[in-house]
Amino acid sequence: MKIIKTIKEMRRWVRLQKRKGLKIGFVPTMGALHAGHESLLKYSVKSNDVTVLSIYVNPTQFGPGEDFKSYPRRLSQDMVLAKNAGAAVLFSPSHHEMYPQGFLTSVEVRGLDKHLCGADRPGHFRGVTTVVMKLLNIVTPRIVYLGQKDLQQAVIIQKMVSDLNVDVDVVVCPTIREKDGVALSSRNQYLSDKHRAQAVMLYKALLLARHMVSEGKVKTAYIKKRIKQLIAKNTDGKIDYVDVGDLSSMSPVSVINQDVFVALAVRFGRARLIDNIIIKYNAKKNREKD
Ligand code: AMP
Repeated sequence: MKIIKTIKEMRRWVRLQKRKGLKIGFVPTMGALHAGHESLLKYSVKSNDVTVLSIYVNPTQFGPGEDFKSYPRRLSQDMVLAKNAGAAVLFSPSHHEMYPQGFLTSVEVRGLDKHLCGADRPGHFRGVTTVVMKLLNIVTPRIVYLGQKDLQQAVIIQKMVSDLNVDVDVVVCPTIREKDGVALSSRNQYLSDKHRAQAVMLYKALLLARHMVSEGKVKTAYIKKRIKQLIAKNTDGKIDYVDVGDLSSMSPVSVINQDVFVALAVRFGRARLIDNIIIKYNAKKNREKD
C-alpha cells in the first residue's frame, strides 16, 4: 500500500491508474479506523480495481469547543487495517495541503443541513461538503463509499454530487454494529464503561420505533415520545434530538405513510453518539425492514 501525502503525487498516481484503464474506488474517513470503515473498504475493493482510502481530520467541520484537537489520531494502526483490507493508497494530506493560506471557497447544500445534526452543529455540513468536494476532485473516483451511520451526511453528499454534476457514483453501505447493537464509531472510545453499557439503549430505542410501526403506530410524536422515555429511563445521556423524517429532504414527518428514517443523537459526557435506521413503509402490510 502506497502512502501519499501531497495532492500533486495523488493526482500523478490517479492519472497513471486511469491510463491503465483501472477503476478507482474511494473511501473518505477521518481515521481511527474500525470495522465500519473496514467494511466500506471491502465493498470498494470488491467492486473496483484499486481503492483509495483518505484519512484527514478536517478542521472546518468541527465547531468551536468540539473535539477537533482531541479527535483520535492513530495513523500507524490505521495503516495496518487499510493494508489488510486491500487499499492500494492511503491518502493523508496535511492541513497546509488542503487549506493553503488564502483559501476562500466553500460548498453548501442549502436546507438539508437545517435538521438533525445540522441544527446542533452550525457550519458542520458546509465543512464536510467542502472537504469531500475537494477530495473527489483530487481522487476522481468512479465510486465513493459512505456509511449509513452518518445518514444526513450521505444524503447531503448525494445531493451535492447530483446538483454539481460530479462524475461519481455514491454507494451508501450499512451500519456496522458491535454484537450488542452499538454502532461502531471512532468516538466510542470517549465513553466511560458505564456510558458504554448505557449506549446499547440507542439501538434498542430505534428497534422499538420499528416495532411500533410494525404494530401500526404511525404518529411520530408518539413514537418519538416513547424513544425519549426509554433513553431517559435507562441512561443518563442528554438527548440532542430524536427525529423521524423524509429520506430525501431530511425534514420531519408527523405521520408515517412513506419510507422514513428514525435518527437520534445523544451525549454521554463528551461523546456525542448518533445512530439511525430506515423504516420501509409497506402500505399493505405496514411492516418494515432496515
Ligand atoms: P468518519 O471517519 O467517522 O468520518 O467516517 C468515515 C466514513 O465511515 C463515513 O462514510 C461514515 O459514515 C462511515 N462509518 C463510520 N462508522 C461506520 C459504521 N459503524 N458502519 C458503517 N460505516 C461507518
